[in-house]
Amino acid sequence: MKYKNVFALGDCSSLPTSKTGAAIRKQAPATVANILDMINGKQLSGNYNGYTSCPLVTSYNSMVLAEFDYDKNPQESFPFDQSKERFSMMMLKKYGLPNLYWHGMLRGRA
Ligand SMILES: Cc1cc2nc3c(=O)[nH]c(=O)nc-3n(C[C@H](O)[C@H](O)[C@H](O)COP(=O)(O)OP(=O)(O)OC[C@H]3O[C@@H](n4cnc5c(N)ncnc54)[C@H](O)[C@@H]3O)c2cc1C
Repeated sequence: MKYKNVFALGDCSSLPTSKTGAAIRKQAPATVANILDMINGKQLSGNYNGYTSCPLVTSYNSMVLAEFDYDKNPQESFPFDQSKERFSMMMLKKYGLPNLYWHGMLRGRA
């Protein structure tokens, strides 16, 4: 790290993980914690494990939601096998994720 008071997140950060909005959702709290720690003269405590999420649309009615970390270990959010094509995941992308984005992420709630 060359400049200790410069922080980056999102697509411009060039972190070795897939660049997605889902990744930014996990990067943002770690970045905020680190900036606050720096301002307060504390050791940086924010941590990010490379989590990212790729919605793979497999048909008009199905999708696989791949979620993984820096080491490509699965980081699945749901209590079922997400490697299977599912209608429910397509509905999540169509209706759930836009809500999460507009009403959660952009308002700092999620
Ligand atoms: C087709 C497509 C589909 C995607 N689908 C998904 C998905 O389903 N799920 C998901 O999680 N992610 C998805 N992504 C990825 C997601 O959109 C990006 O990872 C995310 O938008 C990156 O956010 P960011 O804020 O880092 O960068 P950006 O959203 O690129 O924001 C950067 C901003 O900086 C502005 N800018 C650039 N240069 C300057 C300058 N010199 N001065 C001032 N402003 C400047 C740009 O205009 C832009 O508004 C998709 C991306 C693409 C392209």
